[in-house]
Amino acid sequence: MNLLYTMLIENCGIAGIKGNNNVGMDLVISLKSLQHRGQEAAGIAITDKEMYLYKKVGLVEDIFKPHIIRNLSGNVGIGHVRYSTKGSSVSYNAQPFKVKTNRGDIAVAHNGEVVNADNLRNKLSNEGVVFSGTTDSEVIAQLLGRYLEIMKNPIKAIRKLMEMIKGGYSLVILINTQLFAVRDPYGIRPIIIGKYDNGYAVASESVVMDHLNGEMIRDMLPGEVIELTETGVNTLFIKEEGKAHCMFEWVYFSRPDAIIENKLSYYVRIRLGEILAEEKGIDADIVIPVPDSGRPHALGFSRKSGIPFEEGLMKNRYTTERTFIMPDSKTRDETLKKKLNPIKKILEGKRVVLCDDSIVRGTTMKKIVSLIKGSGAVEVHVRIGSPPIISPCYYGIDMKSRDELIAPDKSEKEIAEIIGADSVGYISIDGLARAIGIKQDFLCLGCVTEKYPVKVGNELLRGQKQLFDFATEKKVIMNEK
Ligand code: SF4
Repeated sequence: MNLLYTMLIENCGIAGIKGNNNVGMDLVISLKSLQHRGQEAAGIAITDKEMYLYKKVGLVEDIFKPHIIRNLSGNVGIGHVRYSTKGSSVSYNAQPFKVKTNRGDIAVAHNGEVVNADNLRNKLSNEGVVFSGTTDSEVIAQLLGRYLEIMKNPIKAIRKLMEMIKGGYSLVILINTQLFAVRDPYGIRPIIIGKYDNGYAVASESVVMDHLNGEMIRDMLPGEVIELTETGVNTLFIKEEGKAHCMFEWVYFSRPDAIIENKLSYYVRIRLGEILAEEKGIDADIVIPVPDSGRPHALGFSRKSGIPFEEGLMKNRYTTERTFIMPDSKTRDETLKKKLNPIKKILEGKRVVLCDDSIVRGTTMKKIVSLIKGSGAVEVHVRIGSPPIISPCYYGIDMKSRDELIAPDKSEKEIAEIIGADSVGYISIDGLARAIGIKQDFLCLGCVTEKYPVKVGNELLRGQKQLFDFATEKKVIMNEK
C-alpha cells in the first residue's frame, strides 16, 4: 500500500537497550531505523541516576537534535515511534509513558493494541487513577505501576499485567534500572532480541541490529517475558497460548530487510508476487509496482510470468504535502500526481499489470489506475499480494471498521469496476501462507478471514464455528444415521 492518502498505516515501533556504556545515541539510531512504523511522535526514557524522559510530536531526526541527545545519559533505556491506532495524535499520547510508584519510576513503550483497554481504564479511573492521555499504552503503564506497588516484585507485577490485558502487543518496560521485554501470548506483534558491542537490545524489527552493527539473536517467543542485563538475556517466564503472527508484517509493515520468524520480508514479498502470477496470471506487456511497497511483489510476478518489469510510476520522495488533509478531491488528485508521476513513454499503448501489497479503501488505487490509463495504457490489471481485507484489525493496525474497506461482500470483478481496472486479482489465503512459509494455523489472518486469535466483541474466535456450520454438521450426522 502506497503512502498516499488512503493508507494502511503501520502501528508503532519500540526498542530497548541495556548497555555497558551510554545508550542514548544508540536508542536514537534504533528509532530512526524504525521510523517507517510511525511518524507522528517519538520518545526515549533513559536511566542514569534518575529516569529522564523526552518525547514529542514529529520525526525522530527533528526531535532528537544534538543538544537533546547530549541530555540522554544512562546505560539503560527504551524508545518508541508512534502512529496512533488508539487515542488521538497529540503530544500527551506520545510514548514512553512514565509512572511514579512507591517502588520507583517505571516507563513503558508499547506496540499493538489492547482490546479490553477501555474496561481497564474505567476500572482504574474508578480507583482514583488520573490519566494524562487517551491511549491504551497509558493504561498498561498505570496498571503495571499499580501491580508493582501491590506485589513489590517486577516479575509478579508483569505476570499479573499479562493476565489482565488482552490483545496483540509487545512491550519494553523500564523499572528503575531494570529492563524487561514482553511479547503477547500469541506472538501477534513482533519483537526480536539482539546484541552488539555495547550490550543487548530488543526491537520491533531486526533492522535495528543492522544499524547498531550488531546481530539478531532470535525472535522473542509468544508469551515470553525477558530481562536484559549487561551480560545477557534471561527468560523469566513464558505464557504462550498459541501462535498467530500478524501476516501483514511480512506483506507490508516491516521493512523488506527485516527478518521475522526467520523469514526475510523481501523474499516473502517476491514469493507473494510469484504465487500471484501462478494464481492470477494474465496476458500483458509490462509489470509495474506501486512504489515503493509493491516493488518486490511486482518483481516476483515478473519473474514467474516472464512479463518484463518496468518502473511505470516515479515517486517524488521530496514532496512532503500530505494528500489526506487536502480540502477537495481536485487538489488531492493534483498532489497525488506530484507525488507519483506516471511515465508516459513506458505506459503508452501497453497492457499493464499493476502490483501492490494490499487495497484498503480502494480510493488511492482508483486514482492510480486512472493516472496510468490517462498516460495511454490500454489495459490495467491490478494484482494484490494479500487476500481481500474484509474485516477490521483489533491488534494495532489502523483498519477500524468494515465501512472503510472496499472488499467486504464484493467480487474481484466488482472491485475492478469500482476502481476502473480491467481486472483485479488477489492472492489466496493458501498462497499467502505458502509465500510466508508458515502454516495458516500459526498466522493471524483476522482481517482476511474474520476469525480472530483473541476474542473481540462479537467477532468470531479463530477455530470457532459459525451457527450454520453447526447446523450443517448436525444435518450430516442425521443423514449418516
Ligand atoms: S487482523 Fe490483520 S493486520 Fe491485524 S494483526 Fe491480524 S493479520 Fe495483522
